[in-house]
Amino acid sequence: MNAEEFQELFLKGLKRRNPGEVEFHQAVAEVSADIIPFIEDKPKYKHGLILERLTEPDRIISFRVCWVDDEGHIRANRGHRVQNNNAIGPYKGGLRFHSSVNLSILKFLAFEQTFKNSLTGLAIGGAKGGSDFNPKGKSDGEIMRFCQSFITELSRYIGANTDVPAGDIGVGAREIGYMFGQLKRLTNEHTGTLTGKGIEYGGSLIRNEATGYGAVYMLNNMMKHHDDELIGKKILISGSGNVAIFAAEKAINLGAKVLTMSDSSGFIHDKNGLDDKKLAAIKRIKLEERGRISDYTNEFDAQYHEGERPWSIAADVALPCATQNEISGDDARTLVENGCKHIVEGANMPTVQEGVDYFKENNILFAPSKAANAGGVAVSGLEMSQNSSKISWSEKEIDSLLSGIMKSIHDTCVVHGKGKDGVNYSKGANIGGFIKVANAMLAYGVI
Ligand code: NDP
Repeated sequence: MNAEEFQELFLKGLKRRNPGEVEFHQAVAEVSADIIPFIEDKPKYKHGLILERLTEPDRIISFRVCWVDDEGHIRANRGHRVQNNNAIGPYKGGLRFHSSVNLSILKFLAFEQTFKNSLTGLAIGGAKGGSDFNPKGKSDGEIMRFCQSFITELSRYIGANTDVPAGDIGVGAREIGYMFGQLKRLTNEHTGTLTGKGIEYGGSLIRNEATGYGAVYMLNNMMKHHDDELIGKKILISGSGNVAIFAAEKAINLGAKVLTMSDSSGFIHDKNGLDDKKLAAIKRIKLEERGRISDYTNEFDAQYHEGERPWSIAADVALPCATQNEISGDDARTLVENGCKHIVEGANMPTVQEGVDYFKENNILFAPSKAANAGGVAVSGLEMSQNSSKISWSEKEIDSLLSGIMKSIHDTCVVHGKGKDGVNYSKGANIGGFIKVANAMLAYGVI
């Protein structure tokens, strides 16, 4: 059986065992298209069933989350934690609170996280969790009660050396604070079981910034590797949450021109580009007031496009930083036709497979999420190190470690992704992330 036939059979089995989980199928199909040809002449991986074992999570925990809203009504949500693989270190990965959360999405995220964490070079395994709880429009008290209930149940399954969750969509500093407070109360221990904590109680400097900064470091490394530079480049950013805001901040600091930002209602287009003052307004609107990106046009000269994504605007670089599958095949064609040469995925799997294929066919430099947004989990790993040794590193030290890790991820992608048509960063990230986890799994024998 050749690699293509083997992949078809492998995916058929995966779909049969995980019916209807389209995001999970999509993520595994993308990775296996690179891994299956790679292991074809490596019997230890092939006969060790490494890929099959990696796509069957170590365990999935699902539970009910009950809480009381401000009107005194009882509400019931569903919580999950997918512990995908801990071959190279304790499970690690974010928690997502969003109405769309389901097991397909969490399994794809936990699977991707396993490769991403391996790429950082740190000793962290892969996991992801969350709830279908919708934080939009909830009061502070409701958020606190939900977080306390969620972590009370999850606390049975996590720990500083077992599983260390962090934030993701809908889970920022406020939610981590409520969950860490409850965890501390339950366990009577002040350990690093959650990352993304406030600086006063064990958080790391640069953690909030790390994913966005890291994505721009990745972009910068790709440009340098191809004798190009970031200064003056026009950039489209989607999202206006944690990742998007700090990607914009770093891009502006390095001299690029950020033209757009968005939220789930639409996007703003500022032809003059954002500056520090405009970005400070977006931080206030989105992070403090929890308002809409359209409010930007009350203060600055910009166009607001209701219900649209920013990919129709002409630019050199696209940084999708909102959510999965936000760049369709048509969006990919529009971006390329308008001159976009670089795509760096700040969000997890923001490009549909048709779009990824189109970018590759057109020699667009494409950094997949597992490489491009690994800066967040990397600094979470550094937060764990600081917590366990009870020390705090300076901003400069952490930024320099982050930039070193992103350079090393870039170089790993080049080593494993270099071909006659240039660097295939997806292939490089998939193979580079796979090898370390696979070798650790082989060392354990059959477990
Ligand atoms: P936030 O919740 O802080 O921000 C998410 C942003 O995306 C918001 O602007 C939100 O708009 C928008 N958004 C969410 N869902 C949709 C949707 N369906 N359509 C359009 N816009 C949407 O999340 P993060 O910034 O933390 O995460 C963004 C992405 O980055 C996710 O894919 C996440 O998995 C990934 N990521 C995050 C890391 C981190 O450190 N936080 C680390 C690695 C990856 P609105 O305000 O309207 O909800």
